[in-house]
Amino acid sequence: MADVTVLGAGAAGLAVAAQLKGRGVDSVVLERGPGVATSWRGRYDRLRLHTVRGLSGLPGMPIPRAYGRWVRRDDLVRYLEAYAERFGLDVRTGTAIERVKPGDGRWSLQLADGTEHTTGTLIVATGYLHTPVVPQWPGLPTWTGQLIHSAEYRNAQPFQGRNVLVVGPGNSGAEIATDLAEGGASSVSLAIRTPPHIVRRSTAGWPAQMNGLLLGNVLPEPLFNAIAATMAKVEVPNLSPYGLQRPTDGLKTRLRTQRYVPLQDVGIVRDVMAGRVKPVAAVESFTPSSVQLADGSSVEPDVVVAATGYGTGLRELFDDPSLFDETGVPLVHGGAAARPGLYFMGYDVTLGGMLRQLAIESRRVAKAVHRP
Ligand SMILES: Cc1cc2nc3c(=O)[nH]c(=O)nc-3n(C[C@H](O)[C@H](O)[C@H](O)COP(=O)(O)OP(=O)(O)OC[C@H]3O[C@@H](n4cnc5c(N)ncnc54)[C@H](O)[C@@H]3O)c2cc1C
Repeated sequence: MADVTVLGAGAAGLAVAAQLKGRGVDSVVLERGPGVATSWRGRYDRLRLHTVRGLSGLPGMPIPRAYGRWVRRDDLVRYLEAYAERFGLDVRTGTAIERVKPGDGRWSLQLADGTEHTTGTLIVATGYLHTPVVPQWPGLPTWTGQLIHSAEYRNAQPFQGRNVLVVGPGNSGAEIATDLAEGGASSVSLAIRTPPHIVRRSTAGWPAQMNGLLLGNVLPEPLFNAIAATMAKVEVPNLSPYGLQRPTDGLKTRLRTQRYVPLQDVGIVRDVMAGRVKPVAAVESFTPSSVQLADGSSVEPDVVVAATGYGTGLRELFDDPSLFDETGVPLVHGGAAARPGLYFMGYDVTLGGMLRQLAIESRRVAKAVHRP
């Protein structure tokens, strides 16, 4: 068996395995799911990439033009399947890794089936958005309504005629709120702790991603923040009469301090203005029948969709906490080795898009693993 092991057959794992192959290095890709792109298969039905097709493909094989500018979930899965096929990657599906330990200059992987696999080089690409996180709100265990994480949401059908509170105005939360409003939920509220930075997905054909890409790296933070705030005022109507304030911090500052990407408007602005989605204050706590909000008011939803983010799940995989920062992101990732023979990739959040970023990282990591 190859002595290079990649953990995870998502975009990151497939890209690095293909890059290694191009350098004459065989690797084995271990994937816990039933196929490549497991995380995309499980995402909600209406999801499309919010980064443009041309800047979202992996090295050596562009996403087909036929998939359009904003690639659908199922087409991305098809593309990643074709990518693994095209490069003849050795993907072992149904192989979940539970623990990783160092030993005798190698890495030892404990598989869920109780077996062990050792490898000289380990590339961890298990996803930045790995483990759904739901805050432990006071009173939550006593609440009698239904709670799901956004990762479990597929479409509005099960929620028709029901009052739904979506928590968190990120890209998933806002799009799910729109989906619910269009799909027949009785009422949709969106709980907001920190006002989002809202950008139009594209303006006169020019994608927001390009602004992030071209300006994000060159402009100093205060200038980028000022330009982004001005553009937001021009592009996005003032939603404060509807209960959604403009953010007070800068976009690039929030990216740096919180790994934050802006909210791309695919309907939420329209829905808030039409009263189909009602912004409400942040969730504070639960009672058996209601959700208490930070402004002292309360709502009584039938369902709460927690679009409250993800953890990396890496602390559970590794014994060594010194590999990670307090949020569970590896301190060294995207190129250099974190430890001899150990690499992490896919953990950098940028305004240019994560898929584009992990394509870049796949080249760097492959180069670091194998220098001819
Ligand atoms: C809703 C949503 C929309 C997004 N839209 C965009 C977008 O438009 N543009 C963009 O650039 N980025 C987008 N992203 C961000 C990012 O590009 C994706 O999350 C992308 O899937 C990251 O690829 P990845 O390979 O790093 O992780 P993943 O796709 O999550 O792949 C990780 C793989 O590792 C496997 N795995 C995990 N743990 C184990 C284990 N212990 N053992 C074995 N296998 C394991 C998983 O099953 C999975 O297949 C989006 C993210 C989300 C959640």
